Amino acid sequence: MEYILDKPLHGTIGTEKYQCTIEWRNGKFISDEPVKAGGKELGPDPNTLLLSSIASCTLITLRMYIDRKGWIIPEIAVNANSYLETIEGKKRCTIDQDVLFKSPVTDEQKIRLQEIAAQCPISKILENGIKVRTFVFRDTDTKVIHYSNEEISVVWRPEFCQHSTRCWTQLPEVFDPKIKKWINPDGAPAERIDQQIRKCPSGALSFINKKNPGS
Ligand code: SF4
Repeated sequence: MEYILDKPLHGTIGTEKYQCTIEWRNGKFISDEPVKAGGKELGPDPNTLLLSSIASCTLITLRMYIDRKGWIIPEIAVNANSYLETIEGKKRCTIDQDVLFKSPVTDEQKIRLQEIAAQCPISKILENGIKVRTFVFRDTDTKVIHYSNEEISVVWRPEFCQHSTRCWTQLPEVFDPKIKKWINPDGAPAERIDQQIRKCPSGALSFINKKNPGS
């Protein structure tokens, strides 16, 4: 089993209604609820984020296909929305997408592009059904081990480790599961260790720069 993302998405919420900070591998953004639901509309709400996922995947899939074919279709637009209905006591979501090609497209191309759009990876994931597994921890439930030198701390939460082997195969100078004190913070420059920790797919590893703790 291998996770799709190299680094897990990380989200936090405080008491400010309903501002969530979502960290992804190259930055952060805010998710919020609309004003009518008690939020401040500071960022996209969860339904919008779900629709953004399928809309962007559809556009990217079409762009890849069109470029491979060498067709001249410079701009593609999509409108996406969803509705919920209750069928036999279960809530069911339908997502509708309208794809608009703003340049001339033949009838044959249009039919083929509709087929390609329907095959985008996120559509397939959603249509095949998703199992959501949520594990709940209190901070005190998880063991936290620090491996430190004067400059940095490598923090390891063993319960989160998915044994992907990525850390110790890619940076054996620092990570060696054969020995008890398996992380050596002196084994490589701090920057290289930080870079490797960012590739941990489970979030088991994190990095603290003691001179600049927020970095
Ligand atoms: S700590 Fe992270 S990178 Fe290392 S084996 Fe565990 S999951 Fe993989």
